[in-house]
Amino acid sequence: MLAGSADMGDGAEEKQSIDLLLMKLACPNQLDDFIGKVVREGGLLEEVMRECVGILGGLSNDVDALLMGQSWDWMHSMAIRFQQEPACATRRCNDGALPRIGEALKEVNRVWKDRNQVVHATWNVCPSLLGGRCEVATSLQEDLGEDEYHVERSRRAKSKRIVEHRSVGELEELVIEFESVRHELIEALKDFDPRAFG
Ligand SMILES: [Zn+2]
Repeated sequence: MLAGSADMGDGAEEKQSIDLLLMKLACPNQLDDFIGKVVREGGLLEEVMRECVGILGGLSNDVDALLMGQSWDWMHSMAIRFQQEPACATRRCNDGALPRIGEALKEVNRVWKDRNQVVHATWNVCPSLLGGRCEVATSLQEDLGEDEYHVERSRRAKSKRIVEHRSVGELEELVIEFESVRHELIEALKDFDPRAFG
């Protein structure tokens, strides 16, 4: 009888902790804060990339409408093309800055790909903590961290899903990287054409 009530007590405790975990993402939380920051940083970087295409291509403000709503990949490939073959209108700019711009474009694209892996994925509490199964959790030597999440993404609906564990700390680092590559691209563009930043 005593043993029975002890079991019940454990079960209730376990259920309570599962309820808490299920609630974890229902309330304001760090994960959502940082995913929000990654999205916001992405928007800022897209803005700089649009500016970059405009500056390198020597495009006037009239073409802003053309650049609005273009995909990142399109803008990035335009920027690369203009970086490699500067447009007539930009011949009077500092060509010496073009290699630096080329490097900066490589870096912003790398960070953008990292952003996509964050944004185009589902972030959840690991099912292993909710009484379910997770191969990643099983393969881990240690307990799951407080800020560790179960992340799934797939390239196509029917393909095998990629599952990994990622932490909020990684998102914090990504936000810092965003700021530094954006800053470097802006500096390189200033070097190329200071007048564009008058
Ligand atoms: Zn997991």
